[in-house]
Amino acid sequence: METSDINIGFIGAGNMAFGIAKGILLSGEVQPGKVTVSAPSSNNLGRFQELDVAVTHSNTEVVAASHLVFLAVKPHIIPQVLREIAPSIKDHVVVSVAAGVTIAKIEELLPPEAVVLRLMPNLPCMVQEGALLFSRGSKAGPQEGAMLKALLAPCGLVEEGPEAWIDIHTGLSGSGVAFGAGRLLRDSGRHPAQLRSDVCTPGGTTIYGLHALELGGLRAATMGAVEAATERARELG
Ligand code: NAD
Repeated sequence: METSDINIGFIGAGNMAFGIAKGILLSGEVQPGKVTVSAPSSNNLGRFQELDVAVTHSNTEVVAASHLVFLAVKPHIIPQVLREIAPSIKDHVVVSVAAGVTIAKIEELLPPEAVVLRLMPNLPCMVQEGALLFSRGSKAGPQEGAMLKALLAPCGLVEEGPEAWIDIHTGLSGSGVAFGAGRLLRDSGRHPAQLRSDVCTPGGTTIYGLHALELGGLRAATMGAVEAATERARELG
């Protein structure tokens, strides 16, 4: 199937869904009319309407309208969403971006024939500078892997790897954006603190990483470095 022919759904209309949707649409290959997004609250759907994609409060409507469905809700919401959509899953390709939720867990809650892939993207997808790693579930063949890779190519570098690598990639690239991301900062027009908050799913992996940076005094050390260099410049001048 050509990427331009795929109907794409997002369950969850948060920061990561927006990043992927924006990255895919920027390519121009996928038309906004091919994309449907759901969230319980209208607040989250506003910026998707600006992308001209279809929005709804119904997750099953997303499944009905789509062939490939991204699960982009917080990890603890995944089980309830899977139970809700399971009866509607037929020949769909389900791609979860939830940190820490294993392929086995997702497959357990879906019909046995469900084609599942697990993806770890990161927010620079929205400026097409993402680093994305995915793994195929037991029913996902190389052709589904190739389809996902082609679809996500506009989002940045996309690689397939074993599921054991996904958690490492989460810490390195998914959360890593909060620890330094020049181009995203420049092109997104967002304040650094807002960008950092966008990456921090409450209670998620990134905030734990940031905690380690604060404990290590990175912020104070950086301020101190700039101050010391400034002072030295004044001494030399
Ligand atoms: P978010 O809080 O910004 O978005 C979550 C969205 O889910 C919201 O739009 C919310 O309204 C919606 N939602 C809540 N309950 C729902 C339900 N029952 N049905 C449908 N939608 C529902 O979170 P996020 O940061 O976008 O993270 C989403 C997922 O992406 C998480 O599982 C996270 O682990 C993963 N992820 C995030 C990043 C990142 O940089 N933010 C990076 C990699 C992976």
